[in-house]
Amino acid sequence: MTAHPDRPTETTGPADPEHDVTASYALEPSRVRELTARLVATSGREVTAYTPISGQPLAVLPQSDERDVETAFSRARRAQRAWARTPLEERAEVLLRLHDLVVDRQDEILDLICLESGKARKHAFDEPMHVALTARYYARTAHQHLAPRRVRGVVPGLTRVQVNQVPKGVVGIISPWNYPFTMALCDGLPALLAGNAVVIKPDAQTMLSALYGAQLLEEAGLPDGLWNVVAGPGRELGGPMTSRSDYVCFTGSTATGKVIAAQCAERLIGCSLELGGKNPMLVLRDASIGRAAEGALRAMFSNAGQLCVSVERLLVADEVYDRFRDELVRRIGAMTLRGGLDWGSDMGSLISQDQLDTVVAHVEDAKAKGATVLTGGRARPDLGPYFYEPTVLEGVTPDMLCAGAETFGPVVALYRFSDEAEAVERANEGSYGLNGAIYSRDTRRARALAAQVKCGTVNVNEAFAATFASIEAPMGGMRESGVGRRQGAEGILRYTETQSVAVQRLLRFSPVLGLGDEGYAKVMTANLRLMRRLGAK
Ligand code: NAD
Repeated sequence: MTAHPDRPTETTGPADPEHDVTASYALEPSRVRELTARLVATSGREVTAYTPISGQPLAVLPQSDERDVETAFSRARRAQRAWARTPLEERAEVLLRLHDLVVDRQDEILDLICLESGKARKHAFDEPMHVALTARYYARTAHQHLAPRRVRGVVPGLTRVQVNQVPKGVVGIISPWNYPFTMALCDGLPALLAGNAVVIKPDAQTMLSALYGAQLLEEAGLPDGLWNVVAGPGRELGGPMTSRSDYVCFTGSTATGKVIAAQCAERLIGCSLELGGKNPMLVLRDASIGRAAEGALRAMFSNAGQLCVSVERLLVADEVYDRFRDELVRRIGAMTLRGGLDWGSDMGSLISQDQLDTVVAHVEDAKAKGATVLTGGRARPDLGPYFYEPTVLEGVTPDMLCAGAETFGPVVALYRFSDEAEAVERANEGSYGLNGAIYSRDTRRARALAAQVKCGTVNVNEAFAATFASIEAPMGGMRESGVGRRQGAEGILRYTETQSVAVQRLLRFSPVLGLGDEGYAKVMTANLRLMRRLGAK
């Protein structure tokens, strides 16, 4: 490893002697029973969940099989029929009560997220925030999105047309482990409001946060059978889920997203796919260096970089490159790295050995091919089994693994650019298009550049949180980063079928008053000409 001359030697510091990295965090069996009561799981199989904080067992969880998936969908179908007839205001009330529960039970939620994912508490905090914002937004706006609306009929006054948003039925949700509480809830809330029932299969590594979400929904008054949770490996339960769903909402890797898309295509059902990214951040020459470094730090290392919208490519203008690099490395040197449930850590653990292996492979490959490690570049078993230091690489070339593939860890590559056209071109390299960021004091220019960046979200003078937390703004990926959008109007309309109902009065669509077909055609043609001249739509 080549150290940068300015590299602080104490990056993330030595292990805290007070912090026992082998501590037991096992949940009380009664607590586990309370949570798993919401699981449809009768296979008789069980798996042990471990906490990444120490690698110690957390809970033993029952597993579902295909029969359980069938049971979950049958329950969902029965419950959905009554739910679709429940007034929208009543459905919205459930979400507002969920909002309040999430705010009140924040500590319990954060504990579970930290235990299951190993992330720092301040990064876990984003999750209940996101759920509360989502619940409030949809509860307060659903009537705008879902209300039947009148549109012009072909014969104004005589053809009355109403467009309805009809629930799809039962929505299948497959969610990932990285944001286990919000990813298990935020997509399902608009589905419920639109009159659907949900069957959800969270990632096997993070069932507890998802089950707590189900418990809170129940406490918020959601009727039985509308929110059903199954547990098990995606490869086993994915097919049974997609073959029974009326719509599938998937969040996870691009590779799995393609499998789901093919299964949905086979059945001609819709799906939204929220997938991976290799997200670029541009620091223009007039950017505030402090602000850009602060934003980059959060976007690179939130949840140890296991965030779909995290920044993995930093493109910096030549004129400010050295200053920005030094500021970034200095700030990383001041980060506190540790696990646990308390506040005060700036970055926690990766979730698993698999994630650690990918991060190590990307960094070792880059080093072997000539990249320079400016800071980080080491696993930290002294802090916990899957800890890895926040890492910045310089000199990354296209032949290196980390140049184009998503690392999904605390590793970022730093590049220079000499003009903005080149920066945009580099930002658009590769097959992903999830999130981008631009730092500049000239926000008008930054907005103009944003329009050229092929990403579903672009943040100016912020790296990800501004779009992520703006629930009215649709969010999702272009290109291989996904199909469809969560949040905003699109986030709820995806769970509905659009149905047009037309009532025709008086005039018939056939010859009248002795007109033959030819005469009818002439009258209608004259009418077309007249309407065009009158400026009709
Ligand atoms: P993954 O695709 O392996 O797993 C995600 C979910 O899919 C899990 O519930 C898993 O059990 C299930 N699954 C796995 N194989 C399946 C199959 N064959 N059929 C059906 N379901 C299957 O993804 P991951 O690696 O666990 O998650 C990280 C990825 O998710 C990253 O690429 C990240 O960028 C992406 N992600 C995207 C967003 C977004 O909003 N765009 C958000 C979070 C994570």
